[in-house]
Amino acid sequence: MTISFDDIASEPLDFDRDFFHRLAKTDLHVHLDGSMRLETIMELAESDGIDLGVSTIDQLQEKIGPGQRYKSLNEYLKGFETVLKVLQTDHSLYRSAYELAEDAARENIGYMEVRYSPILHTRRKLSLAAILESVLSALRDAERDFGVRSGVIVCGIRNISPAVSLRLAELAVAFKNRGVVGFDLAGSEYNYPAKDHLAAFSLILSNNVNVTIHAGEAYGPDSIHQALHYCGAHRIGHGTRLRENGDLLNYVNDHRVPLEMCLSSNVQTCAVNDFEEHPFRFYLDLGLRVTVNTDNRLITNTTMTDEYVLAHKYFELSPRDLLDLVMNGVKSAFIPHELKRDFIKRIKEQTKKQLVAFAEKSRRQSEPDA
Ligand SMILES: [Zn+2]
Repeated sequence: MTISFDDIASEPLDFDRDFFHRLAKTDLHVHLDGSMRLETIMELAESDGIDLGVSTIDQLQEKIGPGQRYKSLNEYLKGFETVLKVLQTDHSLYRSAYELAEDAARENIGYMEVRYSPILHTRRKLSLAAILESVLSALRDAERDFGVRSGVIVCGIRNISPAVSLRLAELAVAFKNRGVVGFDLAGSEYNYPAKDHLAAFSLILSNNVNVTIHAGEAYGPDSIHQALHYCGAHRIGHGTRLRENGDLLNYVNDHRVPLEMCLSSNVQTCAVNDFEEHPFRFYLDLGLRVTVNTDNRLITNTTMTDEYVLAHKYFELSPRDLLDLVMNGVKSAFIPHELKRDFIKRIKEQTKKQLVAFAEKSRRQSEPDA
């Protein structure tokens, strides 16, 4: 008898790490500077003569503290300082982007949107355009070598002046259709409202550039409201505190606004106290367009596989949940609709097949020996 996906859609299955590894994945929310390899930081510091105040990789690890919990988002953001010291040249930007795509390919991420703020990489007088070109050429080369499709999201920073956000918005507009797929606002959420950066968003929106904004992570639903209604966000980064406003939550759901959820990162920055308290399952059950993402592979000490393993551990994903999560990632990608249609069809068929095969294997293993 052939089993169809509908037959197993709600069957409780003991998905293992290998299954999540093999699953086709997207990562729509990953920061370049927070996702470097530790060895690369060490090597770049040595070759470029940068003093990181450490002499071994263990000391570097201790200093950066991957996965360490912080009292707040602001404390967490300080951890990026060490990394930024080495990310001030075109070769370091190229290498970090290329390696990020390689790491993504190794765990079957087929599509990734890498974000960073070029303004944080100007300490050695590189131009904003050169800072962007280095990363774009690395991602093009990585696509050729590893088959990972990707795009760049340029980040404005909440706690840097709105005038700088406007310059970054101009940069994003200039590189639209040349590798840049969207504009974001990152940084300290508390005390730095998105609406202060309206000039940047008005330029972005008038040029039909996609918008995603970190919101509802270190501040309440008002921040999400502003991101959507003042700044025209098409997606929300995190949205962890959206549950505090049912009306806005329904709006987000009705308009299919994707939430880029980053479970480990939310625990790490104390956006939630622990995984059990995370609204992930609540949002999933309500049908919100929830996506799974890493945020920062190094600083948060995670991978996409890890995030799925955690999601399953704490929220018991059914095959239907899993298919929805994978497809939400694909549907929420900032790619042209006609390309996305094919992407959706291909990944849906592939994921269903993988889920059915896993269910069949589990059933065979649980049958008593004849
Ligand atoms: Zn983020």
